Amino acid sequence: MAGGCRAQLSIDLEALRHNFQQVRQAAPASKIMAAVKANGYGHGMVKVAQALTEADAFAVATVAEALTLKRAKISQPIVILEGFLDLEELNLAVEEGFICVIHSPYQLELMENKLQGELKVWVKIDSGMHRLGFPLSRVESVNSRLAKMENVELIGWMSHFSDADDLNNPKTDRQIDDFSRATAGLKGERSLANSGGILGWPDSHLDWVRPGIMLYGSSPFANKSAEELGLRPVMHFTAKIITVNRCQQGDSVGYGSSWQCPEDMAVGVVSVGYGDGYPRHAAFGTPLLVNGGEYPLIGRVSMDMVTIDLRSNPDLKTGDEVVLWGGGLPVDRIAASATTISYELFCGVTQRVVRK
Ligand SMILES: *Cc1c(COP(=O)(O)O)cnc(C)c1O
Repeated sequence: MAGGCRAQLSIDLEALRHNFQQVRQAAPASKIMAAVKANGYGHGMVKVAQALTEADAFAVATVAEALTLKRAKISQPIVILEGFLDLEELNLAVEEGFICVIHSPYQLELMENKLQGELKVWVKIDSGMHRLGFPLSRVESVNSRLAKMENVELIGWMSHFSDADDLNNPKTDRQIDDFSRATAGLKGERSLANSGGILGWPDSHLDWVRPGIMLYGSSPFANKSAEELGLRPVMHFTAKIITVNRCQQGDSVGYGSSWQCPEDMAVGVVSVGYGDGYPRHAAFGTPLLVNGGEYPLIGRVSMDMVTIDLRSNPDLKTGDEVVLWGGGLPVDRIAASATTISYELFCGVTQRVVRK
């Protein structure tokens, strides 16, 4: 077999920038806070942030992620979506100039009692997700507590959608209405929309949009493809055929002997498994792409290998490149076939995979 990598990830930064422009086009009046948490959804946080020179801010989940961006000399404001979780993190956020999203009473108390130096904050409101955020009914009191803190600059108010992946769900409109009502007349900017909101609910755009998954070229909607939305895949995950077996009718393939050959046939062994982040629960029949043709997964996914049905083209050879997802094979199809979402597949690619 020629040199090269058994499992490889390549990241198309041009496609990333194209998708960023799709955000601009969809929400031309809004500033853009690009979500790069979880290592840029597995794409490489620093590289992604460096490529998105036009982003107005970056959103991360944790203080450690914010530090990684800062050390890489990213110059845009860095917003920590979970804010500080204790005094040590609060002090670090102040020192480094990170913007914190505050969502819980313990954070207000820490700020009232222990804040040294200046801090900029967004306030997260719970408009129906019931995960993070102050209840709608507490907005007034949070606002007046913040107003008394001289060293705190309130940037604005944000909330998060629970059902924006479903274009027919009326809950998103309800969240928009409730958020608008609860924050009416207050000073500060407003932010609601994730990718689903950006592409599906223009009323949610407000001052700042917060795209994540659409930047990486996956559709936020179950029933609309990324291609239909004008998005291009950024992550290309590939492996190789490392053996072609000629199996007999009745032979079983892989652990548990869970797949039997219905006839004499060629079976390809591909150099990727769940140890690389290929989903172990991918169903039989999940497509893999070789030289432009699709071949169905057969047998169980193992740690280092998967097996594919080569009956439609028994001439494929050892060394042929196999696309697991990316150009020509949308990640959303693989996610559906593995009963998961693209977000999880992106984040799950492991350290063993060589990144280009
Ligand atoms: C991750 C995240 C986003 C981006 O969501 P996508 O669905 O990936 O567009 C936006 N806002 C918050 C608060 C998030 O945690």
